[in-house]
Amino acid sequence: MTWQFEHVTLGQRVRFGTGEAAANLALEVERLGARRVLLIAEETSAAEVVVSKIDVTARCTDVAPHVPVANAERARTQASEVGADLLVSVGGGSTTGLAKAVALTTGLPIVAVPTTYAGSEATNVWGLTEAARKTTGSDDRVLPVTVIYDAALTASLPDELAVASGCNALAHCVDSMWAPRTDPINQALAVEGIRALRGGLREITTLDGREQMLYGAHLSAVAFASAGSGLHHKICHVLGGAYDLPHAQTHTAILPYVLAFNAPAAPQAAARITEALGTDLITLYDEVGASHVLRGVPDVSEAARLILPSVPPSNPRPVTEDDLAALLNAAQAGQNPTEWSRA
Ligand code: NAD
Repeated sequence: MTWQFEHVTLGQRVRFGTGEAAANLALEVERLGARRVLLIAEETSAAEVVVSKIDVTARCTDVAPHVPVANAERARTQASEVGADLLVSVGGGSTTGLAKAVALTTGLPIVAVPTTYAGSEATNVWGLTEAARKTTGSDDRVLPVTVIYDAALTASLPDELAVASGCNALAHCVDSMWAPRTDPINQALAVEGIRALRGGLREITTLDGREQMLYGAHLSAVAFASAGSGLHHKICHVLGGAYDLPHAQTHTAILPYVLAFNAPAAPQAAARITEALGTDLITLYDEVGASHVLRGVPDVSEAARLILPSVPPSNPRPVTEDDLAALLNAAQAGQNPTEWSRA
């Protein structure tokens, strides 16, 4: 085998410690010499705890799914009006996404404190939504300078949402195995991410399990940032923007069908995924109570038409509009993905 690839590792500090978020944030604010912190967070007790050891100049709570452009513009105005020199985000991917939208135009650094397993904190990808269309791009200005992981902050995530968010992280790993910039380094991160997430999902009710989830979520996001968006992410991205679907649940529903669709054309990747899962994906789903029923797509034909132009040409299997419609129909019906792919 002759390997030839170009790999980029993004530069970012990670501070990981359960129950340590407030202390770690204070260290980071001092290290960065920040004087005017704009906190971006929903009104949650987690956010109060995290900022309990620093001075906060202003707070933006204008968080909404998929970062509507209007919210981004209001937050940018606020950052400029208060003279912010650091953005601190505490929350899920929607909150991190709003901080990224501000960083994109202002260049302000972000310290991200994630409270879900969405993984946005470890990527240089931003997303904005306007008129039911989601636009994404990559820009190193939006990569948080530091991520603070604290499993105690995810304890308030209801188990069902934690499982769905964990499957969102699994999707980063699985898709990284055949995404456009897949390489041996990001595949290694993805496989270790799958192992950690498998363990965490099975112990989601414990703090140890939630720590494993955060570790796995980080690896998954680093792999995804490096490998890029594969078929799975392109499908979910279009569906999320067009129909305002819940992010984690949509990823959870679609993943088994994309894996079943691509596996025959990517046998090595599929074997590594199964080995890391220790079982097949649907067995794990059943065990941890994850749902592979897609909800909220009003018109499958329209969705398939919208998705097709963004399908990566490098996908292991050619994809037609009919394939996409069949995949979405199977997911809507909640068919067994393996049986569907064999039919
Ligand atoms: P989210 O941030 O919208 O959060 C989902 C729900 O969980 C919200 O109601 C929120 O209030 C609640 N929540 C968050 N943390 C909680 C906690 N600890 N306890 C209780 N409730 C909590 O959803 P998400 O799945 O974290 O993120 C989805 C968004 O992130 C999407 O817009 C997606 O596009 C984006 N995303 C971006 C990237 C990227 O690289 N740019 C990667 C992954 C996700």
